Amino acid sequence: ASEKQTLGFQAEVKQLLHLMIHSLYSNKEIFLRELISNASDAADKLRFEAINNAALFENDPELKIRVTFDKQARTITISDNGIGMSREEAIEHLGTIAKSGTKEFFSKLSGDQQKDAALIGQFGVGFYSAFIVADRITVESRRAGLPADQGVRWESAGEGDFSVEQIEKGTRGTDIILHLREGEDEFLSNWKLKSTIRKYSDHISLPILMQKEEWDDEKKETVIKDEFETINQASALWTRNKSDITPEQYTEFYKHVSHDFEAPLAHTHNRVEGRSEYIQLLYIPARAPFDLWDRNKRGGIKLYVKRVFIMDDAEQLMPVYLRFVKGVIDSSDLPLNVSREILQESRDIRVIREGSTKRVLGLLEELANGEEQEQKDKYATFWTEFGQVLKEGIGEDQANKDRIAKLLRFASTINDSDAQTVSFDDYIGRMKEGQDKIYYITADSYAAAKNSPHLEIFRKKGVEVLLMTDRVDEWMLSFLQEVEGKELVSVAKGDLDLGKLEDESEKKQHEETESQYKDLVEKMKKALEPKAKEVRVTFRLTDSPACLVADENELSGNLVRMLKAAGQ
Ligand code: ADP
Ligand code: MG
Repeated sequence: ASEKQTLGFQAEVKQLLHLMIHSLYSNKEIFLRELISNASDAADKLRFEAINNAALFENDPELKIRVTFDKQARTITISDNGIGMSREEAIEHLGTIAKSGTKEFFSKLSGDQQKDAALIGQFGVGFYSAFIVADRITVESRRAGLPADQGVRWESAGEGDFSVEQIEKGTRGTDIILHLREGEDEFLSNWKLKSTIRKYSDHISLPILMQKEEWDDEKKETVIKDEFETINQASALWTRNKSDITPEQYTEFYKHVSHDFEAPLAHTHNRVEGRSEYIQLLYIPARAPFDLWDRNKRGGIKLYVKRVFIMDDAEQLMPVYLRFVKGVIDSSDLPLNVSREILQESRDIRVIREGSTKRVLGLLEELANGEEQEQKDKYATFWTEFGQVLKEGIGEDQANKDRIAKLLRFASTINDSDAQTVSFDDYIGRMKEGQDKIYYITADSYAAAKNSPHLEIFRKKGVEVLLMTDRVDEWMLSFLQEVEGKELVSVAKGDLDLGKLEDESEKKQHEETESQYKDLVEKMKKALEPKAKEVRVTFRLTDSPACLVADENELSGNLVRMLKAAGQ
C-alpha cells in the first residue's frame, strides 16, 4: 500500500508520551542528545551491515550527522546518512515500545514527578523525548539498499496516532524534522544548538555538522552560510587519551551508553596490550536499574571491533554477577563478522572477560578501601544498590572468590542498625583472644536475626556475630566455608563449639551439668520423637529456656523456609 495510512499508537506509547512531556520538561534539551544518539546508532548499524554488503554505502561512505534550523518555518532538522528505516521499520520502531521490561516499568511509576523523571531516564526516553519541544514531528527516511521511491514519511503530533506514507527520497538515511511548540524558539539559534550538542554529544564518533554563521557588515546581523563545519571532536571517546577527556565528557558518554539520567559512581578506562588487545571503558552506575532482577536481561556492554560497532548487550563480556556494569569494549583481535555464537566459544572473549572482571573488582576495591570520605560514601551507595548481586559472585566466580569476599559488607551485632557496613576484615580485626572462627546468623529479617536466642551466649562473651538477612545469603554461604583461614560458623547450627572461647573450668562445669540432666534429656528425646532428632543440654542460652538448632550438615531453618516458600 502506497497511500497515506493513519495508525494508533500503542496504549503504552500514549502513556509514556504524556508522562514524559510533563515530567522531563525541565530537562528538555535532552531531545538533541537522544536524536543524535539515534543518528549515531544508525551509522553504527550501517557500518556493521556493510561489512558483508559494501553496496549499502551507495557511493556515500562518509557517515555524518547534520543539524539545521529554519527560523521562518520554526523547525529543527537532524539528518543522518545511516541505515535508515523502511516503512515497516518506521511503524514498528516509532509506534511501539518493544523494549524489554515495559510492563514492569509502568508498574514502577509512582505519580511523583521527580521520581518518575528519574525512572523514565533509566528506561531510555529516546525518540519520543522530541515531543517535549515539538508539537509535530516529521520523519523522512529511506533504508540503505532500497530504491529512491521506497522512502517513508512518518508524522505525528504525539497524541493518539501517527501517519505513514511512501515518498521519494534520493539520499539514504533519516531526516527528523521537529516543528517546535509555541515558546520553544530558543532552539532556533546556532549558538543554542551548538552549545547543547557540545555539552551532550561531543563524544559521538561521527562528525556532527552545522552551518557556519558569520557577521554580515552590510546587513548588520549574523547570517547563516551554506558552508558546513564540524562542531564536535568526532572521535570515539574511548579511543582518546585519558588526559584529554574531562570528567563531564566521561559522564555524558556514560549517559549515552547506559540511558541513565544520573552520573555514574566510578569508571575505569584502559588500553590493554599483550596477548589480547582491547580498550575497555567501564562504568558503575549510581542506581540499580528497575530491571536488575530480570533474568532475561542481558549485560550492559557494547562490543566494538576496531571502532566498528558490533553489538549491544554482549553478555559474554561480563560475568552475570557484574551485570550492572555499563560501557564499551573495543577489541583489536576479533573478526568483524563475529556473532553471539562465536563469542560464546572465543578464547579472546574469555581473556577480555577475565581482564574486565579484574578491572571492575579493582575499581570496587579502590572505592571500598579509599581513605577519602567521598570514596567511602560511594562504596556505601554501591553496596546498597548492587551488594546483593555482587554476592552471587561468591558462587559464580571461583577464581575471584577471595577478592569478592573482601568486598562484602554485613550488618553485625557490633552495630545497632541494619546498615550493612562490616567487612570480614573489620570482623577479623575485632576477634576475641582465642577466637578462631567467624560467627554469623541467617534470618528472614534484621529484627529476627538480632533478637535470636542463639545470640545470647555471644553477647555474654562479647563475641561479634554477623547478621545475614538477604535472600541470597544462604546460597552464598554454601560456597563460602572460610575467609582468611577462618572458618565461617552459623551460631544456629549443630553442637556449637566455642573452642578456646570456653575456658577449662567452664568446660568441666558443663560436663558435670550434662551428666546431671542425662535422664531428663533421654525422657524428652522419647517424648519428642520423631519430631526432634536430638535433645541436648545447651550453654549457649542465657535468657531463653530452649531453642531449635539445625543439624551440622543439614539445611538451616531459614533455608528450609526459603525452599518451602519457593514451592520445593
Ligand atoms: P532506542 O534508541 O533506545 O532504541 P529510541 O526511542 O531512541 O530508542 O529509538 C527507537 C528506534 O527507532 C531505534 O531503535 C531505531 O530502530 C529507530 N530509529 C530512531 N531514530 C533513527 C534513525 N535516525 N535512523 C534509523 N533508525 C532510527
Ligand atoms: Mg535512542
